Amino acid sequence: MSYVFDAPRVPSLTVAGSAMRFPVHRIYCIGRNYAEHAKEMGAVPDRAQPVFFMKPNDAIVADGGDVAYPPATSDLHHEVEMVVALASGGRDVPIDRALEHVFGYGVGLDLTRRDLQATAKAKSLPWDSSKAFDQSAPVSALRRAAEIRHPRTGRLTLSVNGELRQRADIADMLFTVPEIIHELSRLWTLMPGDLIFTGTPSGVAALQRGDRVRAELEGVGGLDARIR
Ligand code: MN
Repeated sequence: MSYVFDAPRVPSLTVAGSAMRFPVHRIYCIGRNYAEHAKEMGAVPDRAQPVFFMKPNDAIVADGGDVAYPPATSDLHHEVEMVVALASGGRDVPIDRALEHVFGYGVGLDLTRRDLQATAKAKSLPWDSSKAFDQSAPVSALRRAAEIRHPRTGRLTLSVNGELRQRADIADMLFTVPEIIHELSRLWTLMPGDLIFTGTPSGVAALQRGDRVRAELEGVGGLDARIR
C-alpha cells in the first residue's frame, strides 16, 4: 500500500506492566451517567435514554503530562471518568456477555469547553466543538482485566492543585459498564481498540493555565496532567 502522504500514526495507550501498547480505534463517551452530575447540569437523571457522543482517537493524551489550554473557550472544565478499553466487539452484544469484550480499565479526563457546550445545548446544535477538540482526552495507563478483573465499585476522585473537586464511587453510575457496551453495540459496530468514557460525577469546574490535575480510580490507577 502506498499513500499520497504519510498515513497518520495510530494513537495508543500505555499498558501497565507491559512494553506493548493499546492501539486506540474510536472513543465513545456517555453523558449524564451519574445522577448528581446530571442535576448539576440542569438535567433530569434518566435511565430511559443514554446520551452518547464521540471524540476523535487522536484527542488522546497518553499518560497525561502537558495538556494545552484549548482555543476558543474561557471555560475549560474537568470531568474525571473511568475508561473502558475493548479487546473485541461486535453488534448487539448481550449484557451478560459484554464484559468478555473488555481488555482493561483506566482513568481519563473528558475535557469540555463548557461555554461552547452551553451554547450548543441552547441552540440544539451538536457537541463536537465542545467535546471533541485536540487533546480533550488524557487517559492513564490501562490495567488489564485479566489482572484486576472488572471493577464494580471504587472511589473516583479528581483534585486540582491538591484541592479535591470531584469524588464519587463508580457503583453510582446510572448505566453499568455491561449496559453501556450493550447500548453502544445497538448503534455502532464495536471494535478492538475502542475506548468508552463512562461519565463523570458531580463537581465539574473550570481549569486555568498552570493548574495541576490529579485523577484517581481506586484499584485501577492515576493520571497527572498540567494545563499549559
Ligand atoms: Mn463526560
